Amino acid sequence: KRIILIGPPGSGKGTQSPLIKDEYCLCHLATGDMLRAAVAAKTPLGIKAKEAMNKGELVSDDLVVGIIDEAMKKPSCQKGFILDGFPRTVVQAQKLDDMLAKQGAKVDKVLNFAIDDAILEERITGRWIHPSSGRSYHTKFAPPKTPGVDDVTGEPLIQRKDDTAAVLKSRLEAFHMQTEPVIDYYSKNGLVANLHAEKPPKEVTVEVQKALQ
Ligand code: ADP
Ligand code: ADP
Ligand code: ADP
Repeated sequence: KRIILIGPPGSGKGTQSPLIKDEYCLCHLATGDMLRAAVAAKTPLGIKAKEAMNKGELVSDDLVVGIIDEAMKKPSCQKGFILDGFPRTVVQAQKLDDMLAKQGAKVDKVLNFAIDDAILEERITGRWIHPSSGRSYHTKFAPPKTPGVDDVTGEPLIQRKDDTAAVLKSRLEAFHMQTEPVIDYYSKNGLVANLHAEKPPKEVTVEVQKALQ
């Protein structure tokens, strides 16, 4: 299966991804995680992406299309993938269709994590992540066993630099202006399943499973 997750920051894409990945044996490609790793490693890509990310703006289409094109070639992605955080513009969606068409493939499903903006600030400001695995926790909704520590590895958790109320505002603006049109793009092909992303995580998982049946 080739599945796309679309939703504003904090809508639960990263939380649901591991469950889908394990159930269908897909690879998980999260452009935000890849870009943060590049920023941390100070690679040329990371240096180009850092400023836009810190401001809550989108990184250029060419940069992210390049990383996705590269990542989709991995052997583990040949059976299918979950794209988390990509495509985020209509141009990215068109480029993805072109890349897949070359392999005689296409997108199977788009999961739309629909949620009210008002809920997202509390989710984002309470988020703690384990950078190397991408696991996320929440101080109130999904606390780790020990505050600031990953349950699985015992390694420290971090808060993302862009997970502030101020940067969230820009990220939401980018979502409404640039990413919502992507939902319309895929709706025309009847690929979109709308989820109630404000529900508790387990209920969202049930909706995801139904949408992918
Ligand atoms: P995204 O990947 O879409 O930005 P995350 O999955 O990282 O969002 O979720 C954002 C924050 O909200 C995390 O701290 C996560 O633990 C928490 N969270 C995720 N899903 C839910 C939910 N259904 N209800 C409450 N909190 C949630
Ligand atoms: P969230 O999980 O909160 O939705 P991400 O981790 O997916 O956010 O993305 C963090 C930042 O990385 C974005 O604000 C943006 O600057 C950049 N980014 C990630 N994916 C893309 C993309 N497909 N196109 C452009 N910029 C992107
Ligand atoms: P600065 O040097 O300006 O403080 P960094 O390059 O250290 O910025 O990191 C940028 C942001 O990305 C920080 O919020 C940091 O916590 C986060 N970060 C760094 N590495 C990772 C990673 N591998 N995965 C997720 N987030 C990361």
